[in-house]
Parts: sequence; C-alpha cells; structure tokens
Amino acid sequence: MPYLIANWKMNLPPEGIDAYMATVGAAEPGDVTIVVCPPFPFLRTLGACGAGVCVGAQNCSDQQSGAFTGEVAPSMLRRSGADFVILGHSERRTLFHENDALIARKLSLALETGLTPVLCIGEDLRVRDSGQVSRFLADQIKVAAVDALASGEKVILAYEPIWAIGTGRNASGAMVAETLVEIRAALERFWPAAHARAPILYGGSVTPDNVDDLVEHGTIDGFLVGGASLDARKFLAIHAGLRRG
Ligand code: PEP
Repeated sequence: MPYLIANWKMNLPPEGIDAYMATVGAAEPGDVTIVVCPPFPFLRTLGACGAGVCVGAQNCSDQQSGAFTGEVAPSMLRRSGADFVILGHSERRTLFHENDALIARKLSLALETGLTPVLCIGEDLRVRDSGQVSRFLADQIKVAAVDALASGEKVILAYEPIWAIGTGRNASGAMVAETLVEIRAALERFWPAAHARAPILYGGSVTPDNVDDLVEHGTIDGFLVGGASLDARKFLAIHAGLRRG
C-alpha cells in the first residue's frame, strides 16, 4: 500500500488549514494512505478536520515524561491525534545535531507507544560522490536495528538523499530504484524478517513535474514531500502521479 506523506516543516499552507484539508480530503484516495505532518500545535486541528487524512508529527522525544523543556513525548503525540511520526529527518540530524543513537531511542519509544515511525535515511553529496552510498545506508539501517522492531509493528523507511532535500534537485527515478534495492538488501540483513517488505518511500524535491519519472521503475512505495506539500493542488498532482505509477 503506497503512502504519500506531507511534511509541512515549520510552515503552514498559505491558503489556510481548513481550505487545504478540504482540498486534500476530497481526493479519491485509491489505495494511497495520505498522511499530513504539521507543526505540533496543529495536530489536533488537523484531526478535527475529519478529512479522512491521517495525521503525523515531525519529531518526538526519546523520553515519555520529565524535565525535558521543549520536548514532546510520543504518548502526548498519540493523545493529540497523531498516528505517525517522522524520525531522523536530515534537518533534525544536521540543524539539531541528532545522532544515530538518539534516533534509535526515539524509534524504540515510538514503536512502544503505538506510533508508526517514518524513519528517514540518506546520504550527503560527499558520500554519493565517493561511491559509498550502499555502505552508508546499510550502516544507518544497522544502527536503527532496535529490539522494539521484534514486535513486528510497521515501520516506514524514507530514502531522502540530503543533497535533494529542499534544493530543487531530485534524484532520478533510475538512481532511486537502484538505491532502493540496496536499502531492501540491508533491511533483510539487519532487521527482523517481519520488516523485509517494509514500505520504502522517496523524499527530496518531489514535484508534479518529476513524479512520473520517479514512479516509472515501480519500486517506490510512496513519497515524503516537503516544499510541494504546502500547496494542496501540487500535493494532489503528486498523489495522482503516485496512483498512475
Ligand atoms: C522533506 O522535508 O522531507 C523533503 C523531502 O523536502 P522537499 O520535498 O522540500 O525536498
């Protein structure tokens, strides 16, 4: 089942939340699960729109409670209506210095709390240019092989090459297809068997203009969309492309 996930980052759609959700909610979903991830304070607002769209958060704490000023626990996200949580986004890794160990703890706690994690992995340009992509991604998957995965609860992977995020420069469909085979092999090697067929999405400057090339190879299980997800019409055009693929 494909997923189409909107990551609004620290933005709101210019047309307003109600208008956005009305447009996106009117889409014929087909077999695509649509998830919208707003900033924390708007989780409830989205859930209350009754648009038939799932709600996700963009991050969570690795702790359930305590003296952690500014943090939000996975259990609090559940209470605010989130079913999904993005973890390990490259902006969290680079701007907020999140490391693999912290992300692994968040993954454990999210799974234990009943959230579906959307775990982002991806290389920077230096790694791609040095031909180390396969090993780099396998290492990211290996360090995320937490005990909580044994429960078999769903985890979604998002392959997001850092050089393609918010840059307007997307990976080609052929490059993504090749990389997804390597990610799948690492999943089979390092994660419990229940996750061998985990959905693997692509993210990085996806737009209505490049969606056909990306889905052409038939290996992508959906998209994590940043910039283009703020425009409901563009987001729906990507949705239509995903359904065509
Ligand atoms: C993202 O934020 O995960 C993302 C892929 O952003 P963009 O689509 O803007 O590159």
